[in-house]
Amino acid sequence: MATFKAIRIDKADKGTTAALTQFDEAELMDGDVTVRVEWSTLNYKDGLALTGKAPVVRRFPMIAGIDFAGTVEQSSHPDWKAGDKVVCNGWGMGETHLGAYAEKARVKGDWLVRLPDGISARDAMAVGTAGYTAMLSVLALEKHGLTPKSGPVVVTGAAGGVGSVAIAVLSKLGYHVIASTGRMSETDYLKGLGATEVIDRAELSGAPKALAKERWAGGVDSVGSTTLANLLSMTKYGGAIAACGLAAGMDLPSSVAPFILRGVCLLGIDSVMCPIELRRTAWRRLASDLDKAKLADITHEIALDEVMGFGAKILGGHVRGRIVVKIV
Ligand code: NDP
Repeated sequence: MATFKAIRIDKADKGTTAALTQFDEAELMDGDVTVRVEWSTLNYKDGLALTGKAPVVRRFPMIAGIDFAGTVEQSSHPDWKAGDKVVCNGWGMGETHLGAYAEKARVKGDWLVRLPDGISARDAMAVGTAGYTAMLSVLALEKHGLTPKSGPVVVTGAAGGVGSVAIAVLSKLGYHVIASTGRMSETDYLKGLGATEVIDRAELSGAPKALAKERWAGGVDSVGSTTLANLLSMTKYGGAIAACGLAAGMDLPSSVAPFILRGVCLLGIDSVMCPIELRRTAWRRLASDLDKAKLADITHEIALDEVMGFGAKILGGHVRGRIVVKIV
């Protein structure tokens, strides 16, 4: 029986277990493309799945991992043939469909995006779901009409994966970027990525006012909760905040004041079920608007057998930038 290496999540008496094991190829789920996975990554959601801290996994056994890059091995999908280089994010991988921390994945061809020229499989996973979500946020702000002339932009959770990529991209596009972090010790790192100002996240975690002094024209928020409420209350007339995360919580203790008195918009960002055309645009833009040297600076590589130990670290806010996982 053919098997391959994978990080398997099983249900236990109390919660779940995660272990690196051999997985039976016959247990792969339906899909018209089989991919040899070369690189994956560690995202916040992977941390939740690996530790069982939130009910991310909804099928057992599960292979953890929400994104991969690799090479097509077999395909009955008209768009894909053996040898094609592909990237795949979300669509329930690692949640309802067997995921990415494995030497093999079988998925729907409709989920795949061709690796853009100039992006290697490793680069794509250095970007990963976090970086691609940062780009979806930038695209949403641009669609809203934001330009560098509109005024400063704020990025919260700045030293995390979404935050680091958002800063690198926005600064390359010419924005004045204000980075909000709980780790002021990372100021040099954040300025190296292109942040113009670095502020302590404590400034954004007090009880939010309905309206406060206008500080930015736009923002990318990966934190949620009180932070997002404060961001909205400090957004300039006609500005917008792209909300993509919940690192501080799911709640939003805000009021309608920023919306009805300043015409501020709250832009929702979802990477999991995002339509394929928007995904292709995001990956194309990452190829052109994310500086490769900066991507290398924010990336730390680990092996598949190190992934379990990193699950708790990312949830604890102890991971800087992006973690890329070498599968083979
Ligand atoms: P990371 O853990 O890499 O980054 C999160 C950052 O948030 C941390 O580095 C930290 O930054 C900050 N942070 C952590 N805890 C708190 C807290 N209690 N209060 C305020 N700030 C905090 O995660 P990712 O970048 O991978 O993901 C960020 C968020 O985006 C997560 O909530 C994730 O679930 C969400 N996400 C959503 C997606 C979508 O489809 N909408 C896709 C991808 C991610 P610092 O130390 O600089 O303050």
